[in-house]
Amino acid sequence: MKIHDAVLIPGDGIGPEVTAAVLKILDAAGAKFRWTERQAGVVSLEQEGSVLPESTLGAIRERKLALKGPCTTPIGGGFQSVNVQLRKAFNLYAAVRPVRSLPGVETRFKDVDLVIIRENTEGLYSGVENEVTPGVVMSMKVATEDGCTRIARWGFRYAMERQRPKVTVFHKANIMKLTDGLFLRCAQQIHEREYPDVTYETVIIDAGCMRLVQDPTQFHVLLMENLYGDVVSDLCAGLVGGLGVVPGANIGDDGAIFEAVHGSAPDIAGMDVANPLALLMSAVMMLNYVADAAHDPAARPVAARIRKAYDAALAAGEKTRDLGGRLGTAAFADAVIARL
Ligand code: ATP
Repeated sequence: MKIHDAVLIPGDGIGPEVTAAVLKILDAAGAKFRWTERQAGVVSLEQEGSVLPESTLGAIRERKLALKGPCTTPIGGGFQSVNVQLRKAFNLYAAVRPVRSLPGVETRFKDVDLVIIRENTEGLYSGVENEVTPGVVMSMKVATEDGCTRIARWGFRYAMERQRPKVTVFHKANIMKLTDGLFLRCAQQIHEREYPDVTYETVIIDAGCMRLVQDPTQFHVLLMENLYGDVVSDLCAGLVGGLGVVPGANIGDDGAIFEAVHGSAPDIAGMDVANPLALLMSAVMMLNYVADAAHDPAARPVAARIRKAYDAALAAGEKTRDLGGRLGTAAFADAVIARL
């Protein structure tokens, strides 16, 4: 494998401990990343006076590749989400979140294997909110033809390249006729003009959620706008074992940041009980990404080796507490390393 320069943002809460576990596994597996460590969120606010300092932005701008731990987002006030700011700053418009049943993790369904493609820069995450008059506030949902078209194209291309037979759009165009209507129209056009061989289906999101919990195996690629993707990601995490096992990639035309779907989980921070799998799986996605984007096919077998090792550890019952096991964060990392 070639050496790839990448930024490492440990984040806060459980971030530093899951990051340390993942780095140890990556090293043991022979992944060759030259890390530049930078801070974001509450850590950099304390150290550098900004939640997203130029030292972090500049490092990502240069390397175009980062692995990021969770950064706490204050509720109902405080600073704007660092995660959202980063996605916007680098135009990482496609959030890719694979959701897969895992060996040794008992859940209601056995063969879940779907991927959520979430538009990552628009919708209600635009952060345009204002108080019209005391007691009346407003939040603006933004959809652009360019934004909807590029995520639809990305989603259909992904489905075709990975041989996933169907793209399903979750929407609420019966109520949000303009914004979700535009999202649907763009997806329909991309399907008809560019990817007619990929099956295309549209489902109103409430019905889609019901179908997901009844039988998630009927879905292959779920394409949706920003907020729906956020909510449905956690719903799908619940189908396969929880937030500890769903990774994510934020991908743009000129770079990518890999991070777990979960947040900073302050309730279990510093206790050595957090599951590092979601970040580890994100790092595996990062290896597969550099195999393509940085023309380094040797990264692919490293990714496959890590995946085989954690599957084997789980199958042997070596799991963290969230999955019903007894291992701590560091002990789980050692169990994976023992199986590499
Ligand atoms: P944030 O404010 O950063 O979004 P949060 O605590 O509101 O953080 P999450 O971090 O996404 O939201 O997690 C919700 C709960 O799920 C946590 O409180 C924790 O109990 C559990 N959880 C999340 N991630 C993990 C993990 N990696 N391992 C074990 N449990 C986890």
